[in-house]
Amino acid sequence: MKIRSVLSAAVLAVATTFAATQALAQEKFTLRLAETWGPNFPIFGDTTKEFAKLVEEMSDGRLRIRIDSANKHKSPFGVFDMVKAGQYDMGHSASYYWKGKVPETLFFTSMPFGMTALEQYAWFYYGDGMDLMQEVYAPHNMISFPGGNTGIQMGGWFRKEIKSLDDLQGLKMRIPGFAGEVFAEVGVSPTNIPPGELYTALERNTIDAVEWVGPALDLRLGFQQIADYYYTGWHEPATELQFLVNKKVWEKLPSDLQTILKTAMRVSAYDMLVLSQHENAEAWANIKKDYPNVQIKNFPSDVFQAMYDANKKLLKEAAGKNDVAKRIVESQESYLEKTRAYTDISERAYLNTMAEVE
Ligand code: CA
Repeated sequence: MKIRSVLSAAVLAVATTFAATQALAQEKFTLRLAETWGPNFPIFGDTTKEFAKLVEEMSDGRLRIRIDSANKHKSPFGVFDMVKAGQYDMGHSASYYWKGKVPETLFFTSMPFGMTALEQYAWFYYGDGMDLMQEVYAPHNMISFPGGNTGIQMGGWFRKEIKSLDDLQGLKMRIPGFAGEVFAEVGVSPTNIPPGELYTALERNTIDAVEWVGPALDLRLGFQQIADYYYTGWHEPATELQFLVNKKVWEKLPSDLQTILKTAMRVSAYDMLVLSQHENAEAWANIKKDYPNVQIKNFPSDVFQAMYDANKKLLKEAAGKNDVAKRIVESQESYLEKTRAYTDISERAYLNTMAEVE
């Protein structure tokens, strides 16, 4: 009798666990995601839509994502706080927008003179990038994942050609983030202006120059109609957007749905880089015919050197602020050194070779 009751208790326990697992497997979840972007924002908005579609299909409808764009939640730069507080379950934004709140978040978007998209993804997924990012977000009750890359961004539209450092003195330019601080060091007056006002600000000379993203997004705003000089990039070599997940929400999900969520974030992030390459090339294809006024320029070498030196100085200051900032800066610097040595003999060597025979 005794053995039998032990056995039935065991059977009951197994059955209960099985039923609980089944119930969890049946349970449906809807996660509310707030994005910084307006509705149908090209490329960035395509990424969240692709992510939501993948999640729903892979989970056979057990997990759904409801996206609220900025017009709905009215707080494009409040995504960090809303996900932290649990007002939203997820967010899609850019980590460097939170640098005023948590300075170490700056490092996870793109750093001037830093890694390219391929190098930076390698740092996130196989170097220390992901662990360092989780360390920064953990005190804020959130987990963060790469959310899509723009590829290298263009250096901006200038109405006058920049021939030397002198031409930068007092120049008013829309340029946010760490690059804005670098530009300030070499004499520029950086400012940040909402995207909707950029064209008018440039047209009315409220600003003399503007950086936004790259051809696919820039040409839609019409800068090519009012500025002739389009500079190549150095300041955001691999701008990575960001998924944020509230930690309590994440922990509530069964492990298979966590895997689905992670997989969908990773696929949609990679896909944004691919889509960016495609859309930029498409947008650029007719520029010579449609806007013969537009000239591609590199900053002169004395300007580059001054910005490079200013960047080094500012990075050193940033790294000196606390232990985690120091470890992030060191990790990025040592990873860049190693990965770039390989990039030099592979991608760079190939492009240089091609340039010789073309
Ligand atoms: Ca930009």
